Amino acid sequence: MNWSATILTLYPEMFPGSLGHSLAGRALADGLWSLDARNIRDFTTDRHRTVDDTPAGGGPGMVLRADIIAAAVDGVANGTPVIALTPRGAPLTQAKVRELAAGPGVTLLCGRFEGFDERIFDARAIEQVSIGDYILSGGEVAATVLLDACVRLLPGVMGAALSGVDESFETGLLEHPHYTRPPEWEGHLIPEVLRSGDHAKIAAWRLARSEADTRSRRPDLWQRHSDAAGQPPSGAR
Ligand code: SAM
Repeated sequence: MNWSATILTLYPEMFPGSLGHSLAGRALADGLWSLDARNIRDFTTDRHRTVDDTPAGGGPGMVLRADIIAAAVDGVANGTPVIALTPRGAPLTQAKVRELAAGPGVTLLCGRFEGFDERIFDARAIEQVSIGDYILSGGEVAATVLLDACVRLLPGVMGAALSGVDESFETGLLEHPHYTRPPEWEGHLIPEVLRSGDHAKIAAWRLARSEADTRSRRPDLWQRHSDAAGQPPSGAR
């Protein structure tokens, strides 16, 4: 059975969107994964297909009703883990992406307005995931990000089996920078070592750049990497 993505959204027409192109799009056409975008309004029972109501305690905006979301989640249940996209969730990581890609697929809940009635998360054992510390207008773009990251890891999707393994975050470090021809462009040179043909020196240079860039750009990652390796943290060496 292929890896299945089910999306619960108020805007099913936003899918496959960018997921219908390039690597993910080809994999979708080849049947390596499947995508089913369902309209949350199809799980309402009233004439107006109402999905939201005013926030308890007052305040602006509208909240997605727990009973409607529960009906939608129950209506599509297929054994895949259910994840709600919300800025209040745990930050999405490459480790989480790998875990999801290794499973049967995922069901994604896309919020709108002020988000979901909180009671739904415990009632249906729904995990909450955020794609970053900023607010989007809806969960559809966040769902697209999560699916793009998962699909490229599915067996047969990336051309060379190795092409994912040293990428940023896979090793706990940012990846080293890349260069291509021409060797000199607008006076900027490709680092000499990359043209040396000495594979051991190239590997050492890449690791050093990977470490230096992680230390300066992402002290949080560097700290974690150093802790895992049992090394003194940044600044102590
Ligand atoms: N009132 C919410 C808050 O302050 O946490 C924000 C709601 S946002 C305008 C509407 C929907 O967009 C959310 O329910 C969620 O599905 C999605 N969303 C917005 N930012 C997101 C993020 N950083 N990660 C994942 N989903 C996000």
